[in-house]
Amino acid sequence: MHIVGRFAPSPSGRMHIGNIFCAMLGYLSAKSKGGDYILRIEDLDTFRCTKENSKQVLDDLDWFGIKFDDINFSDSNKSIYQSERTEVYEHFEQILQNKGLIYPCFCSRAELHAASAPHLSDGRIIYSGTCKNLTDEQIKQKKRKPAMRLAVPDMKITFIDGCIGEYTEGLKLECGDFIIKRSDGVYAYQLAVTVDDGLMGVNEVVRGHDLISSTARQIWLHKMFGFKPPKFYHMPLLVAQDGRRLSKRDKDLDLGVIRQHMKPQKLIGNLAYACGLIDKKEDISLDELIKIFSWDKIPNRDLILPEL
Ligand code: GLU
Repeated sequence: MHIVGRFAPSPSGRMHIGNIFCAMLGYLSAKSKGGDYILRIEDLDTFRCTKENSKQVLDDLDWFGIKFDDINFSDSNKSIYQSERTEVYEHFEQILQNKGLIYPCFCSRAELHAASAPHLSDGRIIYSGTCKNLTDEQIKQKKRKPAMRLAVPDMKITFIDGCIGEYTEGLKLECGDFIIKRSDGVYAYQLAVTVDDGLMGVNEVVRGHDLISSTARQIWLHKMFGFKPPKFYHMPLLVAQDGRRLSKRDKDLDLGVIRQHMKPQKLIGNLAYACGLIDKKEDISLDELIKIFSWDKIPNRDLILPEL
């Protein structure tokens, strides 16, 4: 099978070391199998994800040395910017609508928190179903613009993750009915990411471990749309020496700062060392890593970022 991997950044600010690490492993995974690696800009939230930020992301990826391949779109909209693909998402919303799976939800954030049960492991809330069975009359009386919510069946989704192994999540009990379009009309991540992975021919998704709780919903959506779900690799996250999770708040680890004092080969070497691809810290190129890359070498636990 010809592999098509993707990097799908949300340009809400300068890229962070964790983002570039994800791009690196996704690129190595696809290229080590002779595949393509494509770029999609997830800028649906146009307030936070500006064109300037997108430009900077492209520049940082270019500096790092990742070259993206052309996309073999199976739709006529050829934009890699999600903010320019609204009519594509509308079409897929309609498919779900025709299946009778979508309902308008008028709940405010406060109401959601008051009425819904938290998901035990990660604090996500499971929707209680308040708006699920509203009558046309009740809907007409609502003043607020609704979000659109997707009713999930009571079924379990199991998949074999390339890093974590077998993983199961119950759609109804662990995810609940979820939003596919916000009340301001912006399509939600779960819908857009699935539609685009499907239409862009993506069959390998490498992303942070923290996104694994989205995967069952996305696999189900792939099936609803008649796509074959990709193979998922939920890669380990980078942590500080004391085990603390690195975040965008660690400003010294964004690419703006790193680029001032480091060549890309040094950053690549540090990241390759952190994840066990090489056994000592040394400068290395992506081309050299492609030759030695294997998921077997990447441990399935948080990775300590060495002193840069
Ligand atoms: N755009 C998402 C993010 O930057 C990633 C989505 C994904 O890889 O599925 O967090």
